[in-house]
Amino acid sequence: MSVSKLAEFGTRHVAKGIGRLSNEVIESGSGSYVTMTGGRKYLDFTCGIGVTNLGHCHPAVTKAAQSQVGKLVHGQINIAFQKPYLELVEQMLPLMPHKSLDTFFFWNSGAEAVEAAIKLARHATKKQNVIVMQGSYHGRTFGTMAMTRSKTVYGENFAPLMPGVFSVPFPYCKQCSISHSTEGKFNYDNCCMDPIRQLEILLKQETAPSDTAALILEPVLGEGGYVPPPPGYLDKLRDICDKNNILLICDEVQCGYGRTGKMFAVEHWGVRPDILVMAKGIANGFPLSAIASRKELMDMQKPGSMGGTYAGNAVSCAAGVAVAKTFKEEKILDNVNARGKELRATLDAAWKDEKTKHIIYDVRGLGLMLALECTPGKGYASKIQAKCMEKDMLVLTTSIYDTLRLIPPLNISKEDMAKGCQILKEAIEEVAA
Ligand code: PMP
Repeated sequence: MSVSKLAEFGTRHVAKGIGRLSNEVIESGSGSYVTMTGGRKYLDFTCGIGVTNLGHCHPAVTKAAQSQVGKLVHGQINIAFQKPYLELVEQMLPLMPHKSLDTFFFWNSGAEAVEAAIKLARHATKKQNVIVMQGSYHGRTFGTMAMTRSKTVYGENFAPLMPGVFSVPFPYCKQCSISHSTEGKFNYDNCCMDPIRQLEILLKQETAPSDTAALILEPVLGEGGYVPPPPGYLDKLRDICDKNNILLICDEVQCGYGRTGKMFAVEHWGVRPDILVMAKGIANGFPLSAIASRKELMDMQKPGSMGGTYAGNAVSCAAGVAVAKTFKEEKILDNVNARGKELRATLDAAWKDEKTKHIIYDVRGLGLMLALECTPGKGYASKIQAKCMEKDMLVLTTSIYDTLRLIPPLNISKEDMAKGCQILKEAIEEVAA
């Protein structure tokens, strides 16, 4: 089929509900690039939405998966252990942000892992309700749709969803001109979102602590706009959870596994989650998600109450082992911090530049999880995205705000980052002109 026929066929026969940035067909991927059928090559600053974080088809990951395919594809974890599963646990244990997170459970997708975390929290606390953040994204299953508050499209016309979900504001305090840096002071009394007081009120007015099993949040808000919290915020949440016997679940599906420059985003603030949720980058594109928690919580569940036919697939786990080893061998976090500074400098320069500053509202983020929010109301972010595509670079937008999100591979080379920064600079200038 010709390229145009393929696009036509896909548009006709693939469900519209999925939504797409482009009707092209991705033929192959290598490192920081994808190549389309027909030969067009793009610099990929999307990583398949934060998944192929070690670049497309990283040789070590490909090798590990290929070798596992020849040994065992599907062992099924409700039947017996399988070696790559246990090896992955061994690799992940020292990476955990707190030593109490010592017991694991693998699944396929982020949403499934979030649901597993909620099942665990309900079972362990014998309570039902869940508190989420405004702007959060946790998935598209019935449970996670109920917990997702980033855009109405994810829940619209799909009700009734899981009951017992309450939301509080996440401190997106640009309005208060308060820095989102990890240093400095944050004055909660002057913050327009009043996030901590709102939570305290919620626990008095809407969901009593004795009914509330868990508070779940993305430590850096993802689909809601790439918003890091202000200093001290997560500590305050931890305190409130401890006082009220509520479990703190950190959904690090998007912000975890090196994306923010530390292995897990919570490490920026030294806060201990009761349950940690991971997915996306952990197997660099193979379907795999995980939760980690402490043994006494996990062991409260009855054997057979958790599991899934494909959960913790052997090939995905083997890929995951290679990912974890590559993080160490290639010093990935060092690269995230070095390249992150370069990308951030490009965005900050555009924000200061007389020619372009009128289209930029905010620059924020950590490591290689960066956002450029545009001046509202003009659709600038989508225009910049389109300009980048014209210049052979893929970038994503996010949230209800006019925001461009930048998530290049964590191992992107200095040269490719320089190229990406130049394309972005030109795209921003052309849109601003
Ligand atoms: N949690 C977060 C923070 C996410 O970003 C996502 C995916 N964007 C999910 C959960 C859901 O993951 P999945 O699409 O694999 O179900």
